[in-house]
Amino acid sequence: NKKEVSVLGLGAMGVVIARLFLDQGYKVTLWNRTADKADALVARGAVLARSAAEALRASRMAVMCVYDYRAADAIFAMDGVAAAMDGRLLAQLTTGSPKDAREAEAWAHRHGAAYLEGAIQAAPDQMGRPDTPLLVSGAQAVFAEAEPLLKVLAGGIVYLGEKASAAAAMDLATLSSIYGTMLGFLHGARIAEHEGFDVAEYGRIVAGIMPTFAGFLQHEGAVIQSGDFAITQSPMRISVEATQRILQTAQEAGISTEFPAFAAGLFRRADAAGLGGEELAALIKLLRK
Ligand code: NDP
Repeated sequence: NKKEVSVLGLGAMGVVIARLFLDQGYKVTLWNRTADKADALVARGAVLARSAAEALRASRMAVMCVYDYRAADAIFAMDGVAAAMDGRLLAQLTTGSPKDAREAEAWAHRHGAAYLEGAIQAAPDQMGRPDTPLLVSGAQAVFAEAEPLLKVLAGGIVYLGEKASAAAAMDLATLSSIYGTMLGFLHGARIAEHEGFDVAEYGRIVAGIMPTFAGFLQHEGAVIQSGDFAITQSPMRISVEATQRILQTAQEAGISTEFPAFAAGLFRRADAAGLGGEELAALIKLLRK
Protein backbone atom coordinates (compact mmCIF):
# COMPACT_ATOMS: atom_id res chain seq x y z
CA ASN A 1 0.00 0.00 0.00
CA LYS A 2 1.39 3.34 -1.08
CA LYS A 3 1.10 6.05 1.53
CA GLU A 4 -1.10 8.38 -0.46
CA VAL A 5 -4.59 9.69 0.03
CA SER A 6 -6.90 12.38 -1.29
CA VAL A 7 -8.99 14.48 1.06
CA LEU A 8 -12.11 16.19 -0.28
CA GLY A 9 -13.65 18.80 1.98
CA LEU A 10 -11.62 21.10 4.20
CA GLY A 11 -14.06 22.23 6.84
CA ALA A 12 -13.24 22.07 10.54
CA MET A 13 -13.04 18.26 10.31
CA GLY A 14 -11.47 17.89 6.86
CA VAL A 15 -8.55 20.16 7.76
CA VAL A 16 -7.73 17.97 10.77
CA ILE A 17 -8.07 14.80 8.66
CA ALA A 18 -5.62 16.16 6.08
CA ARG A 19 -3.19 17.28 8.79
CA LEU A 20 -3.20 13.86 10.49
CA PHE A 21 -2.30 12.17 7.18
CA LEU A 22 0.50 14.70 6.57
CA ASP A 23 1.82 14.07 10.10
CA GLN A 24 2.05 10.36 9.27
CA GLY A 25 4.05 11.01 6.11
CA TYR A 26 1.28 10.48 3.55
CA LYS A 27 1.32 12.16 0.18
CA VAL A 28 -1.92 14.13 0.53
CA THR A 29 -3.88 15.59 -2.38
CA LEU A 30 -6.54 18.11 -1.40
CA TRP A 31 -9.67 19.56 -2.85
CA ASN A 32 -12.14 22.00 -1.34
CA ARG A 33 -14.85 24.14 -2.94
CA THR A 34 -13.16 27.18 -1.41
CA ALA A 35 -9.58 26.58 -2.45
CA ASP A 36 -7.82 28.95 -0.04
CA LYS A 37 -8.73 26.77 2.93
CA ALA A 38 -5.94 24.49 1.66
CA ASP A 39 -3.21 27.14 1.97
CA ALA A 40 -1.81 26.15 5.36
CA LEU A 41 -1.82 22.46 4.39
CA VAL A 42 -0.09 23.15 1.07
CA ALA A 43 2.57 25.04 3.01
CA ARG A 44 3.10 21.78 4.94
CA GLY A 45 3.53 19.70 1.79
CA ALA A 46 0.04 18.79 0.60
CA VAL A 47 -0.85 19.10 -3.08
CA LEU A 48 -3.90 21.13 -4.08
CA ALA A 49 -5.88 19.63 -6.96
CA ARG A 50 -7.63 21.96 -9.44
CA SER A 51 -10.84 19.96 -9.36
CA ALA A 52 -12.58 17.27 -7.32
CA ALA A 53 -12.05 14.87 -10.24
CA GLU A 54 -8.32 15.58 -10.28
CA ALA A 55 -8.13 14.96 -6.53
CA LEU A 56 -9.91 11.61 -6.92
CA ARG A 57 -7.59 10.51 -9.71
CA ALA A 58 -4.49 11.33 -7.64
CA SER A 59 -4.80 8.46 -5.13
CA ARG A 60 -6.36 5.01 -4.86
CA MET A 61 -8.18 6.10 -1.71
CA ALA A 62 -10.14 9.27 -1.04
CA VAL A 63 -11.68 10.49 2.19
CA MET A 64 -14.62 12.86 1.83
CA CYS A 65 -15.85 14.94 4.73
CA VAL A 66 -18.21 17.76 3.81
CA TYR A 67 -21.14 19.41 5.54
CA ASP A 68 -23.86 16.95 4.52
CA TYR A 69 -24.98 14.66 1.71
CA ARG A 70 -26.35 17.58 -0.30
CA ALA A 71 -22.80 18.88 -0.42
CA ALA A 72 -21.47 15.38 -1.22
CA ASP A 73 -24.05 14.99 -4.02
CA ALA A 74 -23.06 18.37 -5.42
CA ILE A 75 -19.46 17.13 -5.60
CA PHE A 76 -20.52 13.80 -7.17
CA ALA A 77 -22.30 15.82 -9.87
CA MET A 78 -19.24 17.95 -10.71
CA ASP A 79 -17.46 17.70 -14.05
CA GLY A 80 -15.51 14.47 -14.47
CA VAL A 81 -16.13 13.19 -10.95
CA ALA A 82 -18.22 10.13 -11.91
CA ALA A 83 -15.60 9.08 -14.46
CA ALA A 84 -12.77 9.62 -11.95
CA MET A 85 -14.41 7.20 -9.48
CA ASP A 86 -13.44 4.14 -11.52
CA GLY A 87 -11.00 1.99 -9.53
CA ARG A 88 -11.07 4.30 -6.48
CA LEU A 89 -11.91 3.58 -2.86
CA LEU A 90 -14.07 6.29 -1.32
CA ALA A 91 -14.37 6.52 2.45
CA GLN A 92 -17.34 8.80 3.03
CA LEU A 93 -16.99 10.42 6.44
CA THR A 94 -19.75 12.96 5.85
CA THR A 95 -22.56 12.43 8.37
CA GLY A 96 -25.79 11.21 6.81
CA SER A 97 -28.81 8.95 7.17
CA PRO A 98 -28.85 5.20 6.40
CA LYS A 99 -30.69 6.02 3.15
CA ASP A 100 -28.02 8.59 2.19
CA ALA A 101 -25.34 5.92 2.73
CA ARG A 102 -27.15 3.28 0.67
CA GLU A 103 -27.63 5.68 -2.22
CA ALA A 104 -24.04 6.92 -2.15
CA GLU A 105 -22.74 3.35 -2.08
CA ALA A 106 -24.92 2.40 -5.06
CA TRP A 107 -23.70 5.49 -6.93
CA ALA A 108 -20.05 4.67 -6.19
CA HIS A 109 -20.49 1.04 -7.26
CA ARG A 110 -22.20 2.11 -10.50
CA HIS A 111 -19.08 4.12 -11.29
CA GLY A 112 -16.61 1.37 -10.47
CA ALA A 113 -15.53 2.50 -7.00
CA ALA A 114 -15.32 0.69 -3.69
CA TYR A 115 -17.19 2.43 -0.87
CA LEU A 116 -17.06 2.67 2.90
CA GLU A 117 -19.35 4.67 5.13
CA GLY A 118 -17.92 6.20 8.28
CA ALA A 119 -19.49 8.14 11.12
CA ILE A 120 -17.10 10.24 13.19
CA GLN A 121 -18.16 10.39 16.83
CA ALA A 122 -15.63 12.95 18.01
CA ALA A 123 -14.84 16.65 17.71
CA PRO A 124 -11.98 17.73 15.40
CA ASP A 125 -9.51 18.20 18.28
CA GLN A 126 -10.24 14.64 19.50
CA MET A 127 -9.25 13.07 16.18
CA GLY A 128 -6.15 10.93 15.75
CA ARG A 129 -6.10 9.45 19.24
CA PRO A 130 -5.90 5.75 20.13
CA ASP A 131 -9.48 5.85 21.44
CA THR A 132 -11.12 8.23 18.93
CA PRO A 133 -14.46 6.60 18.03
CA LEU A 134 -15.23 6.00 14.34
CA LEU A 135 -18.06 3.75 13.16
CA VAL A 136 -17.34 2.13 9.78
CA SER A 137 -19.33 -0.16 7.50
CA GLY A 138 -19.06 -1.56 3.99
CA ALA A 139 -17.61 -4.62 2.28
CA GLN A 140 -15.17 -6.55 4.50
CA ALA A 141 -12.36 -6.65 1.90
CA VAL A 142 -12.67 -2.90 1.32
CA PHE A 143 -12.53 -2.25 5.04
CA ALA A 144 -9.43 -4.47 5.35
CA GLU A 145 -7.70 -2.37 2.69
CA ALA A 146 -8.72 0.98 4.19
CA GLU A 147 -8.26 0.15 7.86
CA PRO A 148 -4.58 1.20 8.19
CA LEU A 149 -5.44 4.56 6.70
CA LEU A 150 -8.56 5.09 8.80
CA LYS A 151 -6.56 4.18 11.90
CA VAL A 152 -4.54 7.36 11.33
CA LEU A 153 -7.76 9.29 11.94
CA ALA A 154 -9.24 7.25 14.75
CA GLY A 155 -7.78 4.44 16.85
CA GLY A 156 -11.18 3.39 18.13
CA ILE A 157 -12.68 2.06 14.90
CA VAL A 158 -15.81 -0.07 15.28
CA TYR A 159 -16.47 -2.09 12.10
CA LEU A 160 -20.20 -2.78 11.77
CA GLY A 161 -20.28 -5.17 8.84
CA GLU A 162 -21.02 -5.21 5.15
CA LYS A 163 -24.09 -2.95 4.95
CA ALA A 164 -22.89 0.57 4.16
CA SER A 165 -25.91 1.98 5.99
CA ALA A 166 -24.88 0.40 9.31
CA ALA A 167 -22.47 3.15 10.38
CA ALA A 168 -25.06 5.86 9.73
CA ALA A 169 -27.76 3.84 11.51
CA MET A 170 -25.59 3.17 14.57
CA ASP A 171 -24.58 6.82 14.65
CA LEU A 172 -28.25 7.81 14.83
CA ALA A 173 -29.02 5.14 17.42
CA THR A 174 -26.24 6.31 19.72
CA LEU A 175 -27.23 9.95 19.19
CA SER A 176 -30.75 8.99 20.20
CA SER A 177 -29.34 7.72 23.51
CA ILE A 178 -27.43 10.92 24.00
CA TYR A 179 -30.36 13.23 23.29
CA GLY A 180 -32.75 11.19 25.41
CA THR A 181 -30.30 11.32 28.32
CA MET A 182 -29.73 15.04 27.70
CA LEU A 183 -33.46 15.84 27.91
CA GLY A 184 -33.69 14.08 31.25
CA PHE A 185 -30.56 15.87 32.42
CA LEU A 186 -32.02 19.26 31.50
CA HIS A 187 -35.28 18.57 33.31
CA GLY A 188 -33.18 17.58 36.33
CA ALA A 189 -31.34 20.88 36.03
CA ARG A 190 -34.71 22.68 36.23
CA ILE A 191 -35.49 20.78 39.45
CA ALA A 192 -32.07 21.75 40.81
CA GLU A 193 -32.52 25.41 39.84
CA HIS A 194 -36.02 25.55 41.23
CA GLU A 195 -34.91 24.06 44.55
CA GLY A 196 -31.96 26.44 44.70
CA PHE A 197 -29.25 23.78 44.29
CA ASP A 198 -25.89 24.37 42.67
CA VAL A 199 -26.46 23.07 39.13
CA ALA A 200 -22.74 22.42 38.64
CA GLU A 201 -22.85 20.10 41.64
CA TYR A 202 -25.92 18.38 40.15
CA GLY A 203 -23.83 17.83 36.97
CA ARG A 204 -21.05 16.27 39.04
CA ILE A 205 -23.44 13.96 40.87
CA VAL A 206 -25.02 12.81 37.58
CA ALA A 207 -21.54 12.17 36.16
CA GLY A 208 -20.83 10.02 39.20
CA ILE A 209 -23.79 7.70 38.53
CA MET A 210 -22.97 7.32 34.83
CA PRO A 211 -20.72 4.23 35.16
CA THR A 212 -23.55 2.39 36.92
CA PHE A 213 -26.04 3.67 34.36
CA ALA A 214 -23.72 2.51 31.55
CA GLY A 215 -23.76 -1.01 32.98
CA PHE A 216 -27.55 -0.85 33.19
CA LEU A 217 -27.83 0.18 29.51
CA GLN A 218 -25.66 -2.75 28.47
CA HIS A 219 -27.82 -5.09 30.51
CA GLU A 220 -31.05 -3.74 28.99
CA GLY A 221 -29.61 -4.01 25.46
CA ALA A 222 -28.86 -7.68 26.10
CA VAL A 223 -32.35 -8.19 27.52
CA ILE A 224 -33.97 -6.74 24.37
CA GLN A 225 -31.74 -8.84 22.11
CA SER A 226 -32.59 -12.00 24.07
CA GLY A 227 -36.33 -11.33 24.05
CA ASP A 228 -36.52 -12.51 27.67
CA PHE A 229 -37.99 -9.67 29.74
CA ALA A 230 -38.38 -11.61 32.98
CA ILE A 231 -37.02 -9.38 35.75
CA THR A 232 -33.70 -9.99 37.40
CA GLN A 233 -33.98 -7.24 40.01
CA SER A 234 -36.18 -4.21 39.50
CA PRO A 235 -39.55 -4.48 37.79
CA MET A 236 -40.76 -1.70 35.52
CA ARG A 237 -43.42 -0.79 38.11
CA ILE A 238 -40.72 1.10 40.05
CA SER A 239 -40.13 3.29 36.99
CA VAL A 240 -43.86 3.80 36.47
CA GLU A 241 -44.03 5.28 39.95
CA ALA A 242 -40.77 7.22 39.65
CA THR A 243 -41.81 8.96 36.43
CA GLN A 244 -45.25 9.78 37.93
CA ARG A 245 -43.45 11.33 40.91
CA ILE A 246 -41.21 13.43 38.63
CA LEU A 247 -44.32 14.63 36.77
CA GLN A 248 -46.28 15.38 39.92
CA THR A 249 -43.34 17.29 41.41
CA ALA A 250 -43.04 19.38 38.24
CA GLN A 251 -46.74 20.21 38.43
CA GLU A 252 -46.47 21.19 42.09
CA ALA A 253 -43.35 23.27 41.45
CA GLY A 254 -44.83 24.97 38.40
CA ILE A 255 -41.83 24.05 36.25
CA SER A 256 -42.04 22.59 32.73
CA THR A 257 -43.89 19.27 32.61
CA GLU A 258 -42.99 18.46 28.98
CA PHE A 259 -40.33 15.86 29.59
CA PRO A 260 -41.89 14.09 32.62
CA ALA A 261 -45.36 14.09 30.99
CA PHE A 262 -43.88 12.29 27.98
CA ALA A 263 -41.92 9.79 30.10
CA ALA A 264 -44.68 9.16 32.65
CA GLY A 265 -47.23 8.76 29.84
CA LEU A 266 -45.20 6.02 28.17
CA PHE A 267 -44.66 4.13 31.42
CA ARG A 268 -48.34 4.45 32.34
CA ARG A 269 -49.33 2.90 28.99
CA ALA A 270 -46.80 0.11 29.48
CA ASP A 271 -48.22 -0.61 32.93
CA ALA A 272 -51.77 -0.62 31.53
CA ALA A 273 -50.58 -3.10 28.89
CA GLY A 274 -49.56 -5.45 31.69
CA LEU A 275 -45.78 -4.94 31.45
CA GLY A 276 -45.31 -3.57 34.99
CA GLY A 277 -43.81 -6.81 36.27
CA GLU A 278 -41.22 -7.08 33.51
CA GLU A 279 -37.81 -5.49 32.92
CA LEU A 280 -37.82 -1.75 32.19
CA ALA A 281 -36.63 -2.60 28.67
CA ALA A 282 -40.04 -4.22 28.02
CA LEU A 283 -41.22 -0.67 27.25
CA ILE A 284 -39.80 -1.32 23.78
CA LYS A 285 -42.84 -3.50 23.10
CA LEU A 286 -44.94 -0.29 22.99
CA LEU A 287 -42.45 1.38 20.66
CA ARG A 288 -42.66 -1.54 18.20
CA LYS A 289 -46.35 -0.89 17.55
P1 NDP B 1 -17.80 22.56 8.15
O1 NDP B 1 -19.07 23.31 8.12
O2 NDP B 1 -16.66 23.10 8.93
O3 NDP B 1 -17.28 22.32 6.66
C1 NDP B 1 -18.16 22.08 5.65
C2 NDP B 1 -17.40 21.57 4.43
O4 NDP B 1 -18.37 21.20 3.45
C3 NDP B 1 -16.50 22.61 3.78
O5 NDP B 1 -15.39 21.97 3.20
C4 NDP B 1 -17.41 23.18 2.72
O6 NDP B 1 -16.74 23.77 1.64
C5 NDP B 1 -18.10 21.91 2.26
N1 NDP B 1 -19.35 22.17 1.55
C6 NDP B 1 -20.51 22.61 2.06
N2 NDP B 1 -21.44 22.72 1.09
C7 NDP B 1 -20.84 22.34 -0.06
C8 NDP B 1 -21.26 22.24 -1.41
N3 NDP B 1 -22.52 22.51 -1.76
N4 NDP B 1 -20.37 21.81 -2.32
C9 NDP B 1 -19.12 21.49 -1.97
N5 NDP B 1 -18.64 21.58 -0.72
C10 NDP B 1 -19.50 22.01 0.23
O7 NDP B 1 -18.18 21.08 8.61
P2 NDP B 1 -17.30 20.07 9.49
O8 NDP B 1 -15.95 19.92 8.90
O9 NDP B 1 -17.42 20.43 10.92
O10 NDP B 1 -18.13 18.73 9.29
C11 NDP B 1 -17.96 17.89 8.15
C12 NDP B 1 -18.68 16.59 8.42
O11 NDP B 1 -18.10 15.98 9.56
C13 NDP B 1 -20.17 16.78 8.70
O12 NDP B 1 -20.92 15.79 8.03
C14 NDP B 1 -20.24 16.61 10.19
O13 NDP B 1 -21.49 16.06 10.60
C15 NDP B 1 -19.11 15.63 10.47
N6 NDP B 1 -18.66 15.73 11.86
C16 NDP B 1 -18.22 16.93 12.35
C17 NDP B 1 -17.89 17.06 13.68
C18 NDP B 1 -17.43 18.37 14.25
O14 NDP B 1 -17.36 18.46 15.48
N7 NDP B 1 -17.06 19.35 13.46
C19 NDP B 1 -18.01 15.93 14.61
C20 NDP B 1 -18.42 14.69 13.98
C21 NDP B 1 -18.76 14.62 12.66
P3 NDP B 1 -16.35 25.36 1.71
O15 NDP B 1 -15.10 25.42 2.52
O16 NDP B 1 -16.15 25.72 0.29
O17 NDP B 1 -17.52 26.06 2.34
